[in-house]
Amino acid sequence: MITELLGIPNLGTGNILRKEVESQTDLGKQVEGYLTRGEYVPDALILEMVRGWLVEQADGWLLDGFPRTLAQAEALEDLNGVEAPTLAIALDVGREEIEKRMMGRRECEDCGNTVTVKDEKFLDCPHCGGALRKRSDDVLESFKVRFANYEELTLPLFDYYEAKGNLLRVNGSFLPDAVFQSIKNHLDKG
Ligand code: AMP
Repeated sequence: MITELLGIPNLGTGNILRKEVESQTDLGKQVEGYLTRGEYVPDALILEMVRGWLVEQADGWLLDGFPRTLAQAEALEDLNGVEAPTLAIALDVGREEIEKRMMGRRECEDCGNTVTVKDEKFLDCPHCGGALRKRSDDVLESFKVRFANYEELTLPLFDYYEAKGNLLRVNGSFLPDAVFQSIKNHLDKG
């Protein structure tokens, strides 16, 4: 929704990593264990991947799932040929709700769209009709590691971007349209 509004491209680091694992590329083989366990992939590998994409974007970008550590955020400030980020958007959602969404999360095999299903009955992708599947790391064990890492390594980024004056915190516990509207209201202001 944000990329459509602004007409900019989007890179989701997790999406790219999952594709690399699926295709069993060199990078995919290196990161597979981290993804399965729910651990963060080492900064150096992530940075190389993101840098390669960013230098090709001339008219702005949206990153999803990056930066996730202070080292990544600091590196993003001075990548050669890449402008520093203008806004960091944090979606605040309580742990219980995140866990519920994770358990019901399905990804479309064709268009990559993510939806939440309320029960196990098979549903097609509402966007393209493709088959939906569960992410292999969307299991409780992996989730617990991801959440612990988030609290330890990612939460400090709130203070980092707050101090820079470019943090937008949004209540993410509503439905997607409402969350998008809060973000859009902020972007419309300027
Ligand atoms: P996501 O799709 O954003 O939930 O990411 C899935 C997995 O990819 C994470 O659990 C990490 O193993 C890895 N990953 C994605 N983005 C990053 C990042 N910026 N830094 C480290 N690991 C990442």
